Amino acid sequence: MEPILDILEKHPCFSQSCPTANGRIHLPVAPRCNIFCRFCSRGLSTDVKRPGNAQRLLTPERALDVMDMALTLCPELQVVGVAGPGDPLAGPEALDTLIMIKERYPQLIGCLATNGLALAESMDKILFAGIKTLTVTINALDPVILAALNLGILENGHFLGGLEGAQRLIAAQEEGVRLAQENDLIIKINTVLTPGINDGHIEKIAQAAQKWGARLINVIPLIPAHDLAHLSEPTPEELAAAVTAAEKHLSVKRDCRRCRADACGAPGGVDYARQLYGDRDPQETFSHG
Ligand code: SF4
Ligand code: SF4
Repeated sequence: MEPILDILEKHPCFSQSCPTANGRIHLPVAPRCNIFCRFCSRGLSTDVKRPGNAQRLLTPERALDVMDMALTLCPELQVVGVAGPGDPLAGPEALDTLIMIKERYPQLIGCLATNGLALAESMDKILFAGIKTLTVTINALDPVILAALNLGILENGHFLGGLEGAQRLIAAQEEGVRLAQENDLIIKINTVLTPGINDGHIEKIAQAAQKWGARLINVIPLIPAHDLAHLSEPTPEELAAAVTAAEKHLSVKRDCRRCRADACGAPGGVDYARQLYGDRDPQETFSHG
C-alpha cells in the first residue's frame, strides 16, 4: 500500500494549502443526489464557477476516453476523483468509473467526495475501486441545525424530511467516516459555513470528526443559492473565526477554490475542462439525469 505521506504529498487537496505542481481531475459521472441541500444549485453549465456544476455528464465508458485525453493534456495529474454534479454514491456510475480507471491507470490516486449518506453501505465497492482519499461533507451534527440546511434525504427511494431525515444523515455520516477510518482511507471533512445557521457549530463538527478519524477539515464559505439565495456569503472575519474554531481539533485545508465537478489540472492553475468538453451550450447536447 502506498504510504499515507506519499499520498498526502501528491494530492493537492489534502495538503493544508494547494500547491500548483500536482493536478487532479474531477470526472462528472454522478448524475443524481440522495439528499436535498437547501443551498444546492447543481447542474450543467459552461461557466458557473461552483461545485456541482459541469459541462457534461459522462458515462463511465466515456469517462475513460476523457481520462486518456486529460493525461495527454496534463501529465501532472496525480488524482482522479468524482465530486458531482450529484452525489457519487447515489448511483453506481462513479464507482464503476473508478474501478475501470484503476485498471487502466493504477498509479493515479482514486478520490471521492460524498455527503456520506450511502458511505457505509458502499464501503466494499469503494475499497475494491482502490480509493485512497475521501471527502465527506458534514454541515451540522445537531438535527435542528441540519434541518435548516437540508430539506431531507432519500431512503430506499422514499423522502424522509425534517428532523428525522437530518438524524438519519448525521448517523450515516458518523458510521461512514468511522468505517472509512477503520479501512485506512484518508478522510477530509468539508463544512459549508452558513452565517446565522451553523457558524457557531463548526468547532463541534471538527471535534467529532477528529474523534471519528478525519485528518483534515475544509471550511467552505457558502455560495448563496437556491432556497438560501437570500443569505450573505460569510465575511472574511466570519470565515477566519470558523477556521480558528475548527483548528483546535483538526488541520484546516486552506485555499480551496470551490472547484467545479469537471475541473481538470492543478487547483488555481490552468483548467483543461474546456479542452476536454468543448464550448457548446451543454443543454444542446445533454439532458440531465
Ligand atoms: Fe447538492 Fe451536493 Fe447537497 Fe447533493 S450533497 S444536494 S449535490 S450540495
Ligand atoms: Fe481541492 Fe477545494 Fe478544488 Fe476540492 S474544491 S479540488 S479541495 S481546491
